Amino acid sequence: MIVMKFGGTSVADAVAIQRTISIVAGKLKDKPVVVVSACAKVTDTLYRFLGHFEKGEEKEAMDIISSLKVRHKKIIEDFAPNIENGYDPKALESIHSTIDTLCDTVWTLAKAHSKAQIPDSDRAYITSTGEYLSSNVIAFLMNAMGIRTTWVNARDFMVTNSNYLSGLLQAEAVTRKAGPVIAKAYEGADAVITQGFAGVTAEGDPTILGRGGSDYSASFLGMALDVDRIEIWTDVDGIRTADPRIIQGTKGIRKLSYEEAAELARFGAKVLHPLTLEPAASKNIPLYVLNSMNPGGEGTVVLNSSCIFDGIKSISYNENIKVINIYTPKMVNTSGFMYSIFKVFCDHGVSVDMISTAEASVTLTVDAHLDIDGVVKDLAPLGTITVDRDKSQVSIIGKNIIGVRGALANIFGAVSDSKIYMMSQGSSFLNLSLVVDRPEMTDVISKLHKAFFDNGD
Ligand code: ASP
Ligand code: MG
Repeated sequence: MIVMKFGGTSVADAVAIQRTISIVAGKLKDKPVVVVSACAKVTDTLYRFLGHFEKGEEKEAMDIISSLKVRHKKIIEDFAPNIENGYDPKALESIHSTIDTLCDTVWTLAKAHSKAQIPDSDRAYITSTGEYLSSNVIAFLMNAMGIRTTWVNARDFMVTNSNYLSGLLQAEAVTRKAGPVIAKAYEGADAVITQGFAGVTAEGDPTILGRGGSDYSASFLGMALDVDRIEIWTDVDGIRTADPRIIQGTKGIRKLSYEEAAELARFGAKVLHPLTLEPAASKNIPLYVLNSMNPGGEGTVVLNSSCIFDGIKSISYNENIKVINIYTPKMVNTSGFMYSIFKVFCDHGVSVDMISTAEASVTLTVDAHLDIDGVVKDLAPLGTITVDRDKSQVSIIGKNIIGVRGALANIFGAVSDSKIYMMSQGSSFLNLSLVVDRPEMTDVISKLHKAFFDNGD
């Protein structure tokens, strides 16, 4: 058995879905469990729906519901030329009514609460409706093409904690439930399809896994079913040596370790959701990142570290970070000071990326999207606090960076003209991160990339 996950752009419209179905059709002998995202931009649209609804803009909200019905029915219409003898009228009527019901439920659920008071579990239900629409439509189209496909509800087995809007999947419950559901669904079927992103609490309340969470769904399900392979089908040729949107001459990475890929996902590479790697790693399941627009391409395979060579694999970044400095002479010769600092971050649920300490100061970085007003206020009694908002983080990621001869000389040679405000290297030797001025970021990435990957081709 394998898990194949298709992201929003791979199921954006009839043409993309046709490509996706032929990819799945080529792997039926591997017993695919297909996990799909919502069609491109549908999740954003559902968040927009909530925004309008909360502002009392009912007409705009209602228009969104109608447009979702039209869009999904149009996919079916546009797909029709692929079906030799046309759709079965009964099945067509039934999928139309499924689309109507799913969309109408979004409206009814929102309407059941006064605006701005929609509980998180209903928000989770509403924002994951895109996955329910896409998976139903694709199951219908696969069946129409003669691939016997069973649709299963992820909420029958994707059990999370009760963090409704960014739920964490629960290994014991998912493993116990997923196996029997999928085995039953496979009776008399060629393929099984389910939704990414959607989860459920042990009590049965809907949850979601956070934006981009379908990758995490796929890899967790792969772990629970102990599959042979997890395939993440996206719209780029695997993971690259740097972000091709900001610098030229990037190259595809053929092989990466789980740890390197997790580090890359954490430090800005948008290809995989950061929680995707750990479940696959826990059972040593190879995870492929592939391009549905270029199915013959090599992509990237993520494997156990023992199969991976030492060295720098990629340059990643976080363009918008905040650098927080705590200066205090009180720190000298005391203990427990770090505890008081981290307690503040912990109390506010703000996660720290980089940290460096000097005799009388501690410097930390956090993602710029995080609200740190409360943190700054509570840190104030500990010393003089400054916050710098105009910085970026550049991370050099690879295996055993410290053990690679000349790597550090190469790094510092490449950035010798740039101001480096802060530097940190994890003891795992997986990444070395630098803080630079935001306007300089692209230049720094491009110099580092040149130093490690420009071999004249
Ligand atoms: N549809 C969800 C999102 O856009 C989940 C995903 O695509 O991974 O965030
Ligand atoms: Mg994604």
